Parts: sequence; structure tokens; C-alpha cells
Amino acid sequence: MPPSDPSAAGFFDAHCHLGQPAASVGWQVLCGTSEADWGAVLQRAASQTGAEPGQILPMLGLHPWQVPAASSRWAEQLESLLRSHQAGLGECGLDFAHEDADRAAQEAAFRLQLRWAQTLHRPVAIHAVRAWGRLIDLLREEGVPAAGAMVHAFGGSPETARTLQDMGLYLSFSASLLKPGRDRLRAALAVVEENRLLLETDGAADLAAVIVEAARLRGVPAEELAARTCENGKRCFKELMA
Ligand SMILES: [Zn+2]
Repeated sequence: MPPSDPSAAGFFDAHCHLGQPAASVGWQVLCGTSEADWGAVLQRAASQTGAEPGQILPMLGLHPWQVPAASSRWAEQLESLLRSHQAGLGECGLDFAHEDADRAAQEAAFRLQLRWAQTLHRPVAIHAVRAWGRLIDLLREEGVPAAGAMVHAFGGSPETARTLQDMGLYLSFSASLLKPGRDRLRAALAVVEENRLLLETDGAADLAAVIVEAARLRGVPAEELAARTCENGKRCFKELMA
């Protein structure tokens, strides 16, 4: 399945950002990260033509890296955009990779976004790095948004993958699968149920290459995995489908 294969129209890229080519791959979940790009995400989604094979699914969120720089009005602004546009929540989450990360501020921002996902019935895209225990705690306390919830660029253990999918989350894998020495990541990919699996470019990869590698690791035909992850994506993000 070469990257130029016309079946690319059926591909579902479960996580990307502005600044990459438009939806030649089919469906794209386009995530905002701060007040600075929410307007542009909505504009890109609104500018797509009906002739395109896929669709851009817009998501608006405050990324954990952007929490320290957010203005005092971010929450008010985000809630108002969500109420006036059919967009999902994301990307949001927890990233404790840096020692000086303000964990309390990240958790407060994430809780708020989980609550909007619940009350407005929107899907949520979660970023989680070195914060798996707290992620699971917060999801248990706030509840997993019923409209659809996914962890993007999953990088946790197989045990964490099992826990999250048992809670009803989808798990998305990125081009990290293609890097050498990622045995734990490959082991996590192996435990994900076929109806919970998503694949993504994260804006920096060829989706076909990710599909081919994930299919090889799971021992299934690439075409089958492409179709399966496309069905899963449409189910997880159904609230955003036209
Ligand atoms: Zn991202």
C-alpha cells in the first residue's frame, strides 16, 4: 500500500495540527492547542469543500504545555466557541515530563475541559505524558466523556492501555511505532482491541507508513487495518461528523 494509493481517501488521521497539508488523507482530527490557534482551526474546518473525500473534524482545547501562558479569559473564550461551533475538546491533558510543570494548574484546566466534553456531549482528545496514574484518577473522578474519548500518541505501558480501554477510551498510536527500540510501545499496541485502535500522524508523519507498520506488528493486512481504524475514528468522533 504505497502512500499515494487512492485508498488513502479512506484513511482516518486521528490527530494532527495546523501547518500540514489539507485533507488529502481523508478524515483528519485537527486539534487546537491554545487561544492563538482556535480561530484558525475553525476557519480551516469551515473552508473545506464538499468535494473532498474526507473531512476535517475540528477540536479546540488548551494543551498542557500552553497552560502557563493562557490568558485569564481562556476558559470563558473556549466555552463560548464550543457553544457556538460543533467542535470537540482537545488537545488537552496532563504532561508531567518536566519537573517544573505546574501539575495543579494542568489538572484544573483538564478537569474543566473534561466537564465541557460531558455537558456539551463532545469527543475529547487527550495528551498524556508521565501522568498515567493521575490521568486515570481524574477520568474516574470526572467520568469518561460519553461522546468519545481518545488518548493520542499513546506512550504508556500495556497495563495502562488495558486499563484505559476497559474504561472505554480509544488509544491512538503515532509514528513512534516506526522508531527503533520501542518494545514497550509495540507491546502496548498488541493489547489494544481492534475496535479501540486509532492511528495518527500528529502532524509529522506519513499516515500510510504508520498504518503499514501497525498492521505488520499486529499481523493483519494493512488495508484491513486502514478500514478498521477509519471505522473506529468515525465512531469516536461521530458528534463532529456532518
Ligand atoms: Zn498534538
